[in-house]
Amino acid sequence: MNIAFFSTKAYDKESFDRYRSTFDLTYFEVPLQEHTLKLAEGFEAICVFVNDHLTASIINQLADGGLKIIALRCAGFNNVDLDAARNRGVKVVRVPAYSPEAVAEHALALILALNRKTHKAYNRVREGNFSLERLMGFNLHGKTIGVIGTGLIGAAFARTMQALGCRLLAYDVVENPDLPLAEYVKMEELLGQSDVISLHCPLTEATKYLIREETIAAMKDGVMLINTSRGGLIHTKDVIEGLKTGKIGYLGIDVYEQEEHLFFRDWSEQIIQDDLIGRLMSFPNVLITAHQAFLTQEALQQIASVTIQNLQEYAEGRHLKNQLN
Ligand code: NAD
Repeated sequence: MNIAFFSTKAYDKESFDRYRSTFDLTYFEVPLQEHTLKLAEGFEAICVFVNDHLTASIINQLADGGLKIIALRCAGFNNVDLDAARNRGVKVVRVPAYSPEAVAEHALALILALNRKTHKAYNRVREGNFSLERLMGFNLHGKTIGVIGTGLIGAAFARTMQALGCRLLAYDVVENPDLPLAEYVKMEELLGQSDVISLHCPLTEATKYLIREETIAAMKDGVMLINTSRGGLIHTKDVIEGLKTGKIGYLGIDVYEQEEHLFFRDWSEQIIQDDLIGRLMSFPNVLITAHQAFLTQEALQQIASVTIQNLQEYAEGRHLKNQLN
């Protein structure tokens, strides 16, 4: 089977190339969009990532061209119209769990950097500035951490924070029995009591703009907000207002609502047209990473092996363990 990869980076090729003896792999660096979908012509399978477009229109055109299976090399699937795929008999598989610790640890990295300002200290010292002015942090030990979404990543994050001596509050529509040390509370209680709030739920209709004017108003003054999940969980303009008033004391994001126009590319020599991210970048208490929480050697190996396993199951006509539709 010949598989077309979209949004391919060097690190994807490195982890998938070892399976070249199993499948014929064709890599495209461009994302899958209306104007690139011609590249997928004649392929029975495509392998896509978080910002590839899998709208009904694109799926219909791909299905007309003979597409049978979409293999997501990620866990989230908010970018795929599953109904359209089902209607056309196109199977959709994903990698439901790949090293949840990779994302959980990145959330911790954002918290520690924002709190102890290590990114600022690094630059200061390189310039010969050894002053400690404005580098004051706080002890995480004893602080209350609110985890919204306690699935694989949220649970890994909660365990990590417990190990640091934090008190854990949790909110989820389904409680995780493997998290005995976290106290499940109502959303309002979590928002009102947490010093740090970390988002780990998927982007769905119910969770879109979970963080907006009203929910921000319910938070503690000076709260730290961390989002390693999906950009659409946050209403960016409302968060900017929260930062301007000081209600939000720190913001760490690995995902951004309009990231598909920006992330995974180098814009350093160009004029960025997105004024919202420009405003976010201007705050001294905002730390942005470009969707890199998954980027560990362990996670990439697992993504490649589970994706290939998913495609093998399809090729051999077996039950698709990780099918979404
Ligand atoms: P998971 O399915 O194991 O857990 C998600 C949890 O969210 C579940 O417990 C679910 O019940 C809960 N949830 C669903 N709707 C909710 C709601 N309305 N309110 C509160 N909780 C709700 O998923 P996971 O593997 O833990 O991944 C979580 C998310 O992390 C993914 O959906 C994806 O968007 C994101 N992610 C980001 C990266 C990255 O590199 N930044 C990598 C992997 C995953």
